[in-house]
Amino acid sequence: MINRRKLLKSLTAVPFIGSIWSGNASSFPTEKAISTLAQRDFFKELGVRTFINAAGTYTSMTGSLMPKEVTEAIGYGASQYVNLDDLQDKVGERIAELLDCEYATVTSGCFGAMSIAMAGVLCGNDPEKVKKLPYTQGWANEVIIQEAHQIGYSQALTNVGAKVVLVKTQAELEKAISKKTAMLWYLNANTEQGEIKWDAFVETGKKFGIPTFIDCAADVPPVSNLFKFTKMGFDMVAFSGGKGIRGPQSAGLLLGKRKYIEAARMHTPPRGETIGRGMKVNKEEILGMLVALEMYLQKDHENEWKLWENQIQHISDKATAIVGVSTEIHVPPHANHVPSLRIMWDEKKINISPDALREELRLGHPSIQTVGNKTNVGITTWMMEPGQERIVASRIQEILKRNQNT
Ligand SMILES: *Cc1c(COP(=O)(O)O)cnc(C)c1O
Repeated sequence: MINRRKLLKSLTAVPFIGSIWSGNASSFPTEKAISTLAQRDFFKELGVRTFINAAGTYTSMTGSLMPKEVTEAIGYGASQYVNLDDLQDKVGERIAELLDCEYATVTSGCFGAMSIAMAGVLCGNDPEKVKKLPYTQGWANEVIIQEAHQIGYSQALTNVGAKVVLVKTQAELEKAISKKTAMLWYLNANTEQGEIKWDAFVETGKKFGIPTFIDCAADVPPVSNLFKFTKMGFDMVAFSGGKGIRGPQSAGLLLGKRKYIEAARMHTPPRGETIGRGMKVNKEEILGMLVALEMYLQKDHENEWKLWENQIQHISDKATAIVGVSTEIHVPPHANHVPSLRIMWDEKKINISPDALREELRLGHPSIQTVGNKTNVGITTWMMEPGQERIVASRIQEILKRNQNT
């Protein structure tokens, strides 16, 4: 255990913290001194580099930035006690009203939404079953997924005891359905790759009386997607809170039929003997999520889109000003549906690889994170602060220019 002397020594290593003890080592920081703590440059103090996010919404890059109204709601939440279930109930109703769906709940993210929704489907409202997860032998425990939709995130389903059954075609889907089928799971991001599209998927669920779930984690924008899939008839729809909606990165939304959301809630805190006990969301995230959603719904989406297009065009123009450089502006049809840029060049004319350029951007001042592969550098601007696109554009131009073969 750390002793008091060591503690004080390590605290005084922080340059200005000594002053909060104001000479009297036995007193606690005063309220005034604590407010100075809020001015601390924590990341600098810890030696953790911050960066311009020209990549997108990545968990490894800590997601998105929350508007001030959201962080204020989080601060407000941290200041008083309430009953957790009561708050979830009320916020669930409010979100359902905002999104014109039957019911909703705030989850620990889209992955968390998948786990508790799956758990709810597996156990219904049987409290004895709730305690048994992830052991589901002998139950209806199969979740059917299209092969093209099978990405790592289905671990959220198997974690709670579901077994994945893969299918390719409509005929295979219908053949795979049996007494063991618990749920049909759809990944919106891979709609183009899968043979069975939304309508047929939902219809099949209804025809066989099996609940359908759609993972829409990264599917705002467009804002209409927050309404579209519940209307289409999916029983459960999940979004990440900390991607396009810009809520807490540790929150998400589960929307849909009340009976499934109530069953999912049986696995969440404060209930303890549950598989979801660790997927806690507290009042801070719940309020933060609600306010982020309200802000997102009110935002001028057209204007924002134009801003992103202009930013992408600016970066593209700066890059293509260098001989041998070409760009491609594209918008992914589903998931991360925002103006996006690919920059590529003739390595005979410019003597640096895309990977090396990305590394230079990352190691520079300020640090800039991008995505890409061996053939191009990938950029989005929706997670930037307005104005940062100019820094990104100049840095890219400067590096390309410096590596031109003369
Ligand atoms: C990001 C993502 C998730 C996970 O969402 P979290 O909110 O981080 O839990 C799940 N599915 C897809 C397709 C995603 O893009």
